Amino acid sequence: MLAEVKPACALFVSVTGQVCVRTGRVDLGLVPSIREPASERAEYPREFPAQQQEPPGLTQNMDPQPDHGEQSYRGHGRLAGMRALITGGDSGIGRAIAIAYAREGADVAITYLPEERADADDTAALVSAAGQRAVTIPSDLTELTACREAVGVAISELDGLDILVNNAGYQMARETGIEQISPEQLDRVIRTNLYALFWVTQAAVPNLGEGSCIINNSSIQAYDPSVSLLDYAASKAAINNFTVNLAAELGPAGIRVNAVAPGPIWTPLQPATQPVEKIQAFGQDTPLGRAGQPAEVAPAFVFLASPAEAGYVSGTVLGVTGGKAVF
Ligand code: NAD
Ligand code: MG
Repeated sequence: MLAEVKPACALFVSVTGQVCVRTGRVDLGLVPSIREPASERAEYPREFPAQQQEPPGLTQNMDPQPDHGEQSYRGHGRLAGMRALITGGDSGIGRAIAIAYAREGADVAITYLPEERADADDTAALVSAAGQRAVTIPSDLTELTACREAVGVAISELDGLDILVNNAGYQMARETGIEQISPEQLDRVIRTNLYALFWVTQAAVPNLGEGSCIINNSSIQAYDPSVSLLDYAASKAAINNFTVNLAAELGPAGIRVNAVAPGPIWTPLQPATQPVEKIQAFGQDTPLGRAGQPAEVAPAFVFLASPAEAGYVSGTVLGVTGGKAVF
């Protein structure tokens, strides 16, 4: 007796760049591609010229310029009608998220430090070019009142809030031991990465309804900490714990809470806080052998924000690490 042979499933890329699922009999539907095929993208660098900046760092001083998805990100209405606040959304990963969210149909507010005005203006222009409302909020989030005010401005300018991305962060690599971490540095790291996380979230939660979400920016440092980033790595491990715990608290209200843990990503934070030797070989110690670009991280934030695609995803940490383990 002959066994029944089922037609094989096949994935193929259509002429429009969409990934299609075909069974041999009938198309199951389209799984839209969110970035152009790899063959159409420029090759990303595996090493970088020596360079340094003062924190917080500016995009215009970086060589080469990061890829935030300006040319490649294609939206498909995943976040249509939603309103997002991205802290530290002027540059780096935050800018890539802002571009992607706007092209997916969301209005976007970003916070930035006053000295990052040029970056904030560029990001706002990219959001506006996608036909969405852009709100820029200068704010140092290491103070409670600033966190409350920033969230208040975002909510009044966007007429509400559906997605909070706690992305702002600070680190400073050091070559000395734990006893040399100054009280000022420890304060800045913990205030930026944790106090602001609590304060911004506290201000936002009463304004979030069922179907909304919070996404925190964690790090590979939470799992594979570098000696030179002891304080920063500890703060990122705390963000993971915060994420799971808050997901448990807010789940009954229909609010999802997740985190993304990026590996080494080419952003202003790096030349502003790492030694020159580290910058030149930045990302080479990953299995993929190179640093990631902000454009390669943003799709994880889109997925976690998308009610249709991540409606049952909460309390998780999604790694975008170039191959390093996040468990
Ligand atoms: P970035 O410098 O582009 O963004 C960080 C932003 O944090 C700045 O633009 C700034 O606006 C904001 N910020 C810093 N101090 C602040 C303060 N006191 N008040 C308000 N805002 C402040 O760099 P990035 O790499 O895109 O960083 C974004 C997030 O990604 C951070 O949380 C960082 O820890 C995390 N991350 C980055 C990497 C990486 O390799 N670049 C890896 C893992 C995690
Ligand atoms: Mg910046």
